[in-house]
Amino acid sequence: AASDVPRLRVRDLTVRFAGLTALDGVSFTVEPGSVHAVIGPNGAGKSTTFNVLSGVHRATSGSVRLGDAELTGLPPHRIAALGVARTFQNLALSAHTTVFDSLMLGRHRLTRTGFLSAGLHLPGAAREAARHRERVREIAAFTGLEDHLDRPAGSLPYGLQKLVELGRALCTEPRLLLLDEPVAGMTAPERRRTAEVVAAVREGLGISIVLVEHDMAVVMRLADAVTVLDFGRRIADGPPEVVQRDPAVVRAYLGQ
Ligand code: ADP
Ligand code: MG
Repeated sequence: AASDVPRLRVRDLTVRFAGLTALDGVSFTVEPGSVHAVIGPNGAGKSTTFNVLSGVHRATSGSVRLGDAELTGLPPHRIAALGVARTFQNLALSAHTTVFDSLMLGRHRLTRTGFLSAGLHLPGAAREAARHRERVREIAAFTGLEDHLDRPAGSLPYGLQKLVELGRALCTEPRLLLLDEPVAGMTAPERRRTAEVVAAVREGLGISIVLVEHDMAVVMRLADAVTVLDFGRRIADGPPEVVQRDPAVVRAYLGQ
């Protein structure tokens, strides 16, 4: 397990868009190496939370700290450089790029000599490139993509394309992984497979995962802790089996 995985502290996070409060004083803590689910009805503020954590949106007030680092106000590339990787609710792959090259893109953050110097055959660059290719193959095996490396990403079934995105995020060697609805749109076998991969990531890599997910079976299976949002407010927080029975949570979901 990664020993340098920091705690994520979200404190009093408020995000206002013109006339609309998308997040209203939300706080939660993600313990190192845990899977923390953020759930709630449509429009509750889940994606907004991710957008603030990854630097896409700026918080109106409040703070997000990863260990000693304040993330609030940093641009996306600086947050990524601190070891935060995310996947998106909708596919964000280039269809004609092979699975291997799609995963290799995740290595960009980590190349010291850069892909340009590798192309120029500078000393050391070849060895570094070989290390990256080896790590890409390991992560492909880990995510069950090893038989598809030479295929264009767009030619794969939807569930495998989502796994390519997860694999690419893992290729950045994150300390904190943000997954926005990783099993949405998947078939039942694809859901099971993806849940297995996420469980294996937690067991094998020891990194922290924040999971936005609608599929309660997946949340109950994977999450160590759950934060429930409704209309931008935190209405419950705790272990999944406790949160699931919380009357406020039941009401929020029935009101949908
Ligand atoms: P969820 O992911 O839980 O379904 P979101 O975080 O996407 O919810 O949205 C929370 C609220 O903020 C919704 O009312 C949504 O319409 C609004 N919202 C989200 N993004 C924007 C934006 N860029 N501009 C204006 N309103 C937004
Ligand atoms: Mg959303």
